[in-house]
Amino acid sequence: TDFKSDKQPTWCPGCGDFGTMNGMMKALANTGNDPDNTFVVAGIGCSGKIGTYMHSYALHGVHGRALPVGTGVKFANPDLEVMVAGGDGDGYSIGAGHFVHAVRRNPDITYVVMDNRIYGLTKGQASPTSRQDFETSTTPEGPKQPPVNPLALALASGATFIAQSFSSDALRHAEIIEQAIEHDGFGFVNVFSPCVTFNDVDTYDYFRDSLVDLQEEDHDPTDYQSAKEKILEGDKEYMGVIWQDEESVPYHETHGVTENMADIPDGAADGTMDLVREFY
Ligand code: SF4
Repeated sequence: TDFKSDKQPTWCPGCGDFGTMNGMMKALANTGNDPDNTFVVAGIGCSGKIGTYMHSYALHGVHGRALPVGTGVKFANPDLEVMVAGGDGDGYSIGAGHFVHAVRRNPDITYVVMDNRIYGLTKGQASPTSRQDFETSTTPEGPKQPPVNPLALALASGATFIAQSFSSDALRHAEIIEQAIEHDGFGFVNVFSPCVTFNDVDTYDYFRDSLVDLQEEDHDPTDYQSAKEKILEGDKEYMGVIWQDEESVPYHETHGVTENMADIPDGAADGTMDLVREFY
């Protein structure tokens, strides 16, 4: 697509991040975006390289801090389509605080987490979503603590859109990302993107066998009670849009912030600072 840069990814052959990125590019194109109006912000990790591989405006941010940067980009120029990408280590460990506050702030951005349940870039340490008994280099007997449930964390923080996807299911994955882009507010998608090098538990086969597509369950994503039960019941892994608040209004609209900060005249620094203070 137009969104593919000329850089060759250095991800391991077979890494789930390829499929996740392809779906993001397809969804951006299908929703009428182009590289000139798209800004990708990434964190640190294998997933963090994505801004290099996509042809758009991009910023490779600090570990766990992609969300505040992406939020700032959106507030500075609400006309941009902003997509923030990261991994489970980046987003749910060092970035967990930012995740909670970005969710409750409800900026009109899309957040894609490539969840492979392991730290890949640093060679196989347990991550916040690693299974309790998953033996890794840092947890030879498993982490011995239950994994973070990112969907529950989002719901408890007041999320207006929660979805889960699988990098290998190209069609559904792109559809789900499209729905997140079109959502008026914070579109959060946890994408299972298998790490073929360091995780031999949460594999393509595991997800193919265990994922339940919500489309086949006639799930109504606007039914909060049903979404809550699905997110908390814990015995199934779902794919699809789990929760969507149809009444969602993004932060920059509720607070009347539609002015492009680039248009603020010279010498209006005090006014700019007032805007920044209002955001944060
Ligand atoms: Fe992908 Fe894992 Fe390789 Fe990183 S280490 S590129 S997550 S397969």
